[in-house]
Amino acid sequence: MKALVFHGPGRKSWDDVPDPKILQPTDVIVKMDATTICGTDLHILKGDVPAVEPGRILGHEGVGTITEIGSAVTTLDVGDQVILSCISACGKCGFCKHGVHSHCLGTEGASGIGWIFGHLIDGTQAEFVRVPYAETSVYKLPTGVTAEQGVVLSDILPTGHEIGVRYGHVKPGDVVAVVGAGPVGLATIATSGLYGPSRVIAIDVDANRVEQAKAFGATDGVVSSDSDWKEQVIAMTDGLGVDVAIEAVGIGQTFQMCLDIVRPAGNVANVGVHGAPVQFPLQDLWISNINVSMGLVNTDTLGVLLALVAQGRIDPDIFVSHRFALGDIIEAYDVFGRAAETKALKVVLQA
Ligand SMILES: [Zn+2]
Ligand SMILES: [Zn+2]
Repeated sequence: MKALVFHGPGRKSWDDVPDPKILQPTDVIVKMDATTICGTDLHILKGDVPAVEPGRILGHEGVGTITEIGSAVTTLDVGDQVILSCISACGKCGFCKHGVHSHCLGTEGASGIGWIFGHLIDGTQAEFVRVPYAETSVYKLPTGVTAEQGVVLSDILPTGHEIGVRYGHVKPGDVVAVVGAGPVGLATIATSGLYGPSRVIAIDVDANRVEQAKAFGATDGVVSSDSDWKEQVIAMTDGLGVDVAIEAVGIGQTFQMCLDIVRPAGNVANVGVHGAPVQFPLQDLWISNINVSMGLVNTDTLGVLLALVAQGRIDPDIFVSHRFALGDIIEAYDVFGRAAETKALKVVLQA
């Protein structure tokens, strides 16, 4: 089969590789119908994720059709079309039983980390994929939901919802600010609407992205290169500060922006993937009564979000900016890697 193989920092190619085989009785093999590229894949290619070894097939999102099932699999069948969660969960360990699938203790990949596709085992940017712990890690695609829509549910919608909105404790009437209007920030904006905030403020350096965020449910936008960006935000909160500030970039400067605009006793939810140390001014904040949260998605709300997509309450189509054939993935990486220029959000690759 063909797959996108990582060959060390800065190097990738669309290679001929052996077809995956069932290794455990709980595995299934899927033929990929649709997959995508994540910002995390770009981090891997920069060399920011050293656990990814050369020779690894990248990708942790996608929808595929089951072609083979392991001997212990009873609730899935050949021909089922399924969404692959970016988190592989054994369903049996202590953390899985507490809903913390992101830290699954199963031995697949490495014990204690649930994100293994395209990281510690071969991933989804391939014609075929071996899916471990299949019964507790995939979701059948209901009629009426397309493979392309399913791709948006593998990672970004659950990440925005769980790590941004839920960890941020968004409540009816809240003023929510989302710093960073890339795909995950937009997923946070789109799912915050489920909880009835009075305002959702999109904040980004890119004025185009701020404007675009309104289609995802932002009520207001602030361009963070404006010298008075902070005053603009505070003016939208009766001078109190926002109830929930969500960081969806992954650098110290944007985390500090969240601390600058949150009100006393508010919530700061960090969603961004940080690659460098960040100052945390506890000497100023100890008195602020704020709550700061962070984490890796569990995808335990993937099923709920899928139901909302099926009912038309969340529109995943607006996240897809570009479409390619799977074999054109190198070109897709180029377009996604130049997102500021190409205005790429999610690039979907269809087999
Ligand atoms: Zn991802
Ligand atoms: Zn587990």
